[in-house]
Amino acid sequence: MAKILEGRTALVTGSTSGIGLAIALRYAQDGAKVMLNGFGKPEDIARARAEVGLAMGAPKAPYSNADMTRPAEIREMVAACQAELGGCDILVNNAGIQHVSPVEDFPDEQWDRIIAINLVSNFHAIKAALPGMKAKGWGRIINVASAHGLVASPFKTAYVAAKHGVLGLTKSVALEVARTGVTCNAICPGFVRTPLAEAQVKPLAEKHGVSEQVALTDHLLDRQPTKKWVEVEEIAQAAIYLAGPHSGSINGTSISVDGGWVAQ
Ligand code: NAD
Repeated sequence: MAKILEGRTALVTGSTSGIGLAIALRYAQDGAKVMLNGFGKPEDIARARAEVGLAMGAPKAPYSNADMTRPAEIREMVAACQAELGGCDILVNNAGIQHVSPVEDFPDEQWDRIIAINLVSNFHAIKAALPGMKAKGWGRIINVASAHGLVASPFKTAYVAAKHGVLGLTKSVALEVARTGVTCNAICPGFVRTPLAEAQVKPLAEKHGVSEQVALTDHLLDRQPTKKWVEVEEIAQAAIYLAGPHSGSINGTSISVDGGWVAQ
Protein backbone atom coordinates (compact mmCIF):
# COMPACT_ATOMS: atom_id res chain seq x y z
CA MET A 1 0.00 0.00 0.00
CA ALA A 2 1.33 3.47 -0.91
CA LYS A 3 2.25 5.67 2.00
CA ILE A 4 -0.12 8.59 2.63
CA LEU A 5 2.40 11.30 1.59
CA GLU A 6 4.19 9.29 -1.13
CA GLY A 7 5.41 11.67 -3.86
CA ARG A 8 4.95 14.79 -1.73
CA THR A 9 7.63 17.28 -0.75
CA ALA A 10 7.56 19.21 2.52
CA LEU A 11 9.34 22.04 4.26
CA VAL A 12 9.00 22.23 8.05
CA THR A 13 10.43 25.34 9.72
CA GLY A 14 11.90 24.99 13.20
CA SER A 15 12.28 21.25 12.75
CA THR A 16 15.55 20.65 14.59
CA SER A 17 13.63 20.21 17.84
CA GLY A 18 10.27 19.57 19.48
CA ILE A 19 7.04 19.70 17.47
CA GLY A 20 8.72 20.53 14.14
CA LEU A 21 11.08 17.57 14.37
CA ALA A 22 8.19 15.24 15.23
CA ILE A 23 6.18 16.52 12.22
CA ALA A 24 9.19 16.21 9.88
CA LEU A 25 9.87 12.67 11.06
CA ARG A 26 6.22 11.63 10.76
CA TYR A 27 6.01 13.12 7.24
CA ALA A 28 9.18 11.28 6.18
CA GLN A 29 7.92 8.02 7.70
CA ASP A 30 4.68 8.49 5.77
CA GLY A 31 6.44 8.92 2.43
CA ALA A 32 7.28 12.63 1.98
CA LYS A 33 10.66 14.09 1.11
CA VAL A 34 11.29 16.68 3.82
CA MET A 35 13.59 19.68 4.23
CA LEU A 36 14.50 20.62 7.79
CA ASN A 37 15.20 24.07 9.19
CA GLY A 38 16.12 25.48 12.57
CA PHE A 39 18.93 26.21 14.96
CA GLY A 40 20.71 24.10 17.52
CA LYS A 41 23.96 22.40 18.37
CA PRO A 42 25.66 20.98 15.25
CA GLU A 43 25.47 17.45 16.69
CA ASP A 44 21.72 17.80 17.38
CA ILE A 45 21.08 19.09 13.84
CA ALA A 46 23.17 16.23 12.42
CA ARG A 47 21.17 13.73 14.50
CA ALA A 48 17.84 15.19 13.30
CA ARG A 49 19.01 15.11 9.67
CA ALA A 50 20.16 11.50 10.01
CA GLU A 51 16.95 10.40 11.73
CA VAL A 52 14.63 12.05 9.18
CA GLY A 53 16.98 11.01 6.34
CA LEU A 54 16.76 7.36 7.41
CA ALA A 55 12.96 7.55 7.22
CA MET A 56 13.30 9.03 3.70
CA GLY A 57 15.78 6.36 2.59
CA ALA A 58 18.58 8.95 2.33
CA PRO A 59 21.80 9.39 4.36
CA LYS A 60 20.52 12.72 5.66
CA ALA A 61 17.56 15.02 5.16
CA PRO A 62 18.16 18.33 3.35
CA TYR A 63 18.51 21.24 5.73
CA SER A 64 18.34 25.04 5.57
CA ASN A 65 19.85 27.21 8.30
CA ALA A 66 17.59 30.15 7.31
CA ASP A 67 16.89 32.55 10.16
CA MET A 68 13.13 33.16 10.38
CA THR A 69 13.78 36.82 11.28
CA ARG A 70 15.29 37.36 7.79
CA PRO A 71 12.88 37.46 4.82
CA ALA A 72 15.63 36.99 2.20
CA GLU A 73 16.81 33.81 3.94
CA ILE A 74 13.22 32.54 4.09
CA ARG A 75 12.86 33.02 0.33
CA GLU A 76 16.20 31.25 -0.24
CA MET A 77 15.03 28.36 1.98
CA VAL A 78 11.84 27.86 -0.05
CA ALA A 79 13.83 28.06 -3.31
CA ALA A 80 16.33 25.51 -1.96
CA CYS A 81 13.47 23.16 -1.03
CA GLN A 82 12.03 23.46 -4.54
CA ALA A 83 15.46 22.91 -6.14
CA GLU A 84 16.58 20.01 -3.91
CA LEU A 85 13.28 18.16 -3.49
CA GLY A 86 11.54 19.16 -6.73
CA GLY A 87 8.87 21.24 -4.99
CA CYS A 88 7.41 22.51 -1.77
CA ASP A 89 3.98 20.85 -1.71
CA ILE A 90 3.52 21.10 2.04
CA LEU A 91 4.70 24.09 4.06
CA VAL A 92 4.61 23.82 7.83
CA ASN A 93 5.26 27.16 9.54
CA ASN A 94 6.34 25.92 12.94
CA ALA A 95 9.42 27.85 14.15
CA GLY A 96 8.61 29.76 17.30
CA ILE A 97 10.00 31.27 20.47
CA GLN A 98 8.54 32.51 23.74
CA HIS A 99 9.28 35.23 26.28
CA VAL A 100 7.33 35.72 29.50
CA SER A 101 7.27 39.14 31.13
CA PRO A 102 4.81 41.82 32.32
CA VAL A 103 3.96 44.11 29.41
CA GLU A 104 5.55 47.20 30.98
CA ASP A 105 8.88 45.37 31.36
CA PHE A 106 8.66 43.44 28.09
CA PRO A 107 11.94 44.08 26.22
CA ASP A 108 11.32 45.78 22.85
CA GLU A 109 13.78 43.48 21.09
CA GLN A 110 11.99 40.37 22.45
CA TRP A 111 8.66 41.73 21.21
CA ASP A 112 10.14 42.34 17.73
CA ARG A 113 11.82 38.93 17.64
CA ILE A 114 8.68 37.01 18.66
CA ILE A 115 6.51 38.87 16.13
CA ALA A 116 9.14 38.27 13.42
CA ILE A 117 9.65 34.55 14.06
CA ASN A 118 6.16 33.51 15.21
CA LEU A 119 4.12 35.60 12.74
CA VAL A 120 5.96 37.53 10.02
CA SER A 121 8.05 34.52 8.92
CA ASN A 122 4.80 32.67 8.14
CA PHE A 123 3.82 35.43 5.70
CA HIS A 124 7.19 35.37 3.92
CA ALA A 125 7.27 31.58 3.64
CA ILE A 126 3.68 31.41 2.35
CA LYS A 127 4.38 34.19 -0.16
CA ALA A 128 7.42 32.33 -1.47
CA ALA A 129 5.88 28.84 -1.57
CA LEU A 130 2.39 29.61 -2.88
CA PRO A 131 3.18 30.21 -6.59
CA GLY A 132 4.66 26.69 -6.87
CA MET A 133 1.65 25.15 -5.12
CA LYS A 134 -0.79 27.03 -7.37
CA ALA A 135 1.14 25.99 -10.49
CA LYS A 136 0.82 22.38 -9.38
CA GLY A 137 -2.84 22.74 -8.41
CA TRP A 138 -2.13 21.19 -5.00
CA GLY A 139 -0.65 22.44 -1.77
CA ARG A 140 -0.99 22.35 1.98
CA ILE A 141 -0.05 25.24 4.27
CA ILE A 142 -0.11 24.34 7.95
CA ASN A 143 0.65 27.01 10.52
CA VAL A 144 1.51 25.84 14.02
CA ALA A 145 -0.31 28.46 16.11
CA SER A 146 -1.29 27.76 19.72
CA ALA A 147 -4.17 27.74 22.19
CA HIS A 148 -2.76 31.24 22.66
CA GLY A 149 -3.99 31.99 19.14
CA LEU A 150 -7.54 31.63 20.50
CA VAL A 151 -7.32 32.79 24.10
CA ALA A 152 -4.84 34.83 26.10
CA SER A 153 -2.69 34.48 29.19
CA PRO A 154 -1.02 37.30 31.09
CA PHE A 155 2.67 38.07 30.60
CA LYS A 156 2.79 36.59 27.08
CA THR A 157 1.71 39.66 25.08
CA ALA A 158 4.01 39.19 22.09
CA TYR A 159 3.34 35.47 21.84
CA VAL A 160 -0.45 35.86 22.17
CA ALA A 161 -0.50 38.74 19.67
CA ALA A 162 1.62 36.78 17.18
CA LYS A 163 -0.44 33.58 17.48
CA HIS A 164 -3.75 35.46 17.12
CA GLY A 165 -2.17 37.01 14.03
CA VAL A 166 -1.27 33.58 12.68
CA LEU A 167 -4.94 32.56 12.82
CA GLY A 168 -5.95 35.72 10.96
CA LEU A 169 -3.29 35.09 8.34
CA THR A 170 -4.46 31.49 8.03
CA LYS A 171 -8.07 32.50 7.38
CA SER A 172 -7.20 35.22 4.88
CA VAL A 173 -4.83 33.01 2.86
CA ALA A 174 -7.40 30.19 2.93
CA LEU A 175 -9.96 32.43 1.23
CA GLU A 176 -7.46 33.46 -1.43
CA VAL A 177 -6.48 29.88 -2.31
CA ALA A 178 -9.91 28.26 -1.98
CA ARG A 179 -10.23 27.39 -5.67
CA THR A 180 -6.62 26.47 -6.37
CA GLY A 181 -6.22 23.02 -4.79
CA VAL A 182 -4.31 24.57 -1.92
CA THR A 183 -5.53 24.71 1.68
CA CYS A 184 -4.30 26.78 4.61
CA ASN A 185 -5.02 25.70 8.18
CA ALA A 186 -3.58 25.99 11.65
CA ILE A 187 -2.95 23.66 14.55
CA CYS A 188 -3.49 25.07 18.04
CA PRO A 189 -1.56 23.00 20.56
CA GLY A 190 -1.94 23.35 24.30
CA PHE A 191 1.18 22.76 26.38
CA VAL A 192 3.30 20.21 24.54
CA ARG A 193 6.26 18.42 26.10
CA THR A 194 9.10 20.23 24.25
CA PRO A 195 12.13 22.32 25.28
CA LEU A 196 10.13 25.56 24.67
CA ALA A 197 7.42 24.61 27.16
CA GLU A 198 9.54 22.63 29.64
CA ALA A 199 11.75 25.70 30.08
CA GLN A 200 8.78 27.46 31.72
CA VAL A 201 8.43 24.95 34.59
CA LYS A 202 11.52 25.82 36.64
CA PRO A 203 10.91 29.60 36.74
CA LEU A 204 7.31 28.92 37.82
CA ALA A 205 8.50 26.60 40.61
CA GLU A 206 10.89 29.32 41.82
CA LYS A 207 8.27 32.07 41.54
CA HIS A 208 5.66 30.15 43.56
CA GLY A 209 8.10 28.35 45.91
CA VAL A 210 6.77 24.90 44.96
CA SER A 211 8.21 21.71 43.47
CA GLU A 212 8.55 21.46 39.68
CA GLN A 213 5.78 18.81 39.67
CA VAL A 214 3.36 21.20 41.45
CA ALA A 215 4.50 24.07 39.21
CA LEU A 216 3.63 21.89 36.22
CA THR A 217 0.18 20.66 37.23
CA ASP A 218 -1.08 23.63 39.29
CA HIS A 219 0.51 26.54 37.45
CA LEU A 220 1.72 25.78 33.90
CA LEU A 221 -1.10 23.31 33.16
CA ASP A 222 -3.66 25.15 35.28
CA ARG A 223 -5.91 25.64 32.24
CA GLN A 224 -5.13 22.34 30.49
CA PRO A 225 -7.96 20.19 31.89
CA THR A 226 -6.18 16.86 31.32
CA LYS A 227 -3.30 18.11 33.55
CA LYS A 228 -1.01 16.23 31.17
CA TRP A 229 1.47 17.39 28.56
CA VAL A 230 0.29 17.01 24.97
CA GLU A 231 2.88 14.78 23.26
CA VAL A 232 4.62 15.88 20.04
CA GLU A 233 3.35 12.82 18.16
CA GLU A 234 -0.23 13.98 18.77
CA ILE A 235 0.58 17.23 16.96
CA ALA A 236 2.35 15.31 14.19
CA GLN A 237 -0.78 13.20 13.66
CA ALA A 238 -2.90 16.35 13.23
CA ALA A 239 -0.28 17.62 10.76
CA ILE A 240 -0.48 14.37 8.81
CA TYR A 241 -4.24 14.62 8.63
CA LEU A 242 -4.13 18.21 7.34
CA ALA A 243 -1.49 17.27 4.74
CA GLY A 244 -3.17 14.05 3.66
CA PRO A 245 -5.66 13.17 0.94
CA HIS A 246 -8.85 13.43 3.05
CA SER A 247 -8.59 17.04 4.21
CA GLY A 248 -9.11 18.96 0.97
CA SER A 249 -12.31 20.58 2.26
CA ILE A 250 -10.74 21.68 5.53
CA ASN A 251 -9.65 25.24 4.86
CA GLY A 252 -9.15 28.37 6.93
CA THR A 253 -9.68 26.72 10.27
CA SER A 254 -7.69 25.41 13.21
CA ILE A 255 -7.50 22.10 14.99
CA SER A 256 -7.04 22.36 18.74
CA VAL A 257 -4.87 19.69 20.34
CA ASP A 258 -4.95 21.07 23.85
CA GLY A 259 -6.56 18.62 26.26
CA GLY A 260 -9.71 20.77 26.33
CA TRP A 261 -8.07 24.11 27.21
CA VAL A 262 -10.17 26.36 24.96
CA ALA A 263 -13.41 24.50 25.74
CA GLN A 264 -13.53 26.44 29.01
P1 NAD B 1 11.20 24.14 20.34
O1 NAD B 1 11.94 25.20 21.11
O2 NAD B 1 11.39 22.72 20.71
O3 NAD B 1 11.47 24.29 18.78
C1 NAD B 1 11.47 25.55 18.14
C2 NAD B 1 12.14 25.40 16.81
O4 NAD B 1 12.18 26.69 16.19
C3 NAD B 1 13.60 24.92 16.91
O5 NAD B 1 13.89 24.07 15.83
C4 NAD B 1 14.38 26.22 16.80
O6 NAD B 1 15.72 26.03 16.33
C5 NAD B 1 13.53 26.94 15.79
N1 NAD B 1 13.81 28.37 15.73
C6 NAD B 1 13.78 29.27 16.75
N2 NAD B 1 14.15 30.49 16.29
C7 NAD B 1 14.38 30.35 14.96
C8 NAD B 1 14.78 31.24 13.93
N3 NAD B 1 15.02 32.53 14.17
N4 NAD B 1 14.91 30.74 12.68
C9 NAD B 1 14.71 29.44 12.41
N5 NAD B 1 14.32 28.54 13.35
C10 NAD B 1 14.17 29.01 14.61
O7 NAD B 1 9.67 24.57 20.45
P2 NAD B 1 8.30 23.78 20.20
O8 NAD B 1 7.62 23.71 21.50
O9 NAD B 1 8.51 22.54 19.42
O10 NAD B 1 7.51 24.88 19.36
C11 NAD B 1 7.23 24.74 17.98
C12 NAD B 1 6.04 25.60 17.64
O11 NAD B 1 4.90 25.14 18.39
C13 NAD B 1 6.22 27.08 17.99
O12 NAD B 1 5.65 27.88 16.99
C14 NAD B 1 5.44 27.21 19.29
O13 NAD B 1 4.98 28.51 19.49
C15 NAD B 1 4.30 26.23 19.03
N6 NAD B 1 3.63 25.79 20.24
C16 NAD B 1 4.32 25.10 21.20
C17 NAD B 1 3.64 24.69 22.36
C18 NAD B 1 4.32 23.92 23.45
O14 NAD B 1 3.73 23.76 24.50
N7 NAD B 1 5.50 23.39 23.25
C19 NAD B 1 2.30 25.02 22.52
C20 NAD B 1 1.63 25.72 21.54
C21 NAD B 1 2.32 26.10 20.39
